[in-house]
Amino acid sequence: LRRDEIVAAFRDYLRENNLPITAQRLAVAEIVLTSSEHLSAEDVMIELGRRGAQAGTATVYRTLELLIRGGLAVERDFGEGFKRYEAAHGIPAHEHLRCEVCGRIVEFRDERLDSMTGTIATQNGFVRGGYKLVITGICPDCRARGATQGREPGQE
Ligand SMILES: [Zn+2]
Ligand SMILES: [Zn+2]
Repeated sequence: LRRDEIVAAFRDYLRENNLPITAQRLAVAEIVLTSSEHLSAEDVMIELGRRGAQAGTATVYRTLELLIRGGLAVERDFGEGFKRYEAAHGIPAHEHLRCEVCGRIVEFRDERLDSMTGTIATQNGFVRGGYKLVITGICPDCRARGATQGREPGQE
């Protein structure tokens, strides 16, 4: 999707729901939907400032909420005490690894998780809906720099 198409999709969502279409909302949408990163609300604020487009914290959070509700963005919790957001368009379901030293986030996809979590759900009498998985540890770069800190499994 091109940048203007992405923003147009959000504009359509706002219009269909009779929500005000403001420059701030469109600026927040553009930042989140065109980024390949997992952005926090603070990252969005910083990027807005860099672009000379000011918006209050409340506007940023409200817009993020609208992007999620409209199915355009996905909310992620990596156990950092705040949420991160990524564009939903065109991305297949994936899980994440998070480096506890530098905070880097790496995406991965493994279809074995689909069958495994389905089996676990069935064994417990559930019909599986979704699942969330974040693997924490130390990334290759930090390991190369000699980092050894990081929590032991189960200490979460
Ligand atoms: Zn790292
Ligand atoms: Zn992701």
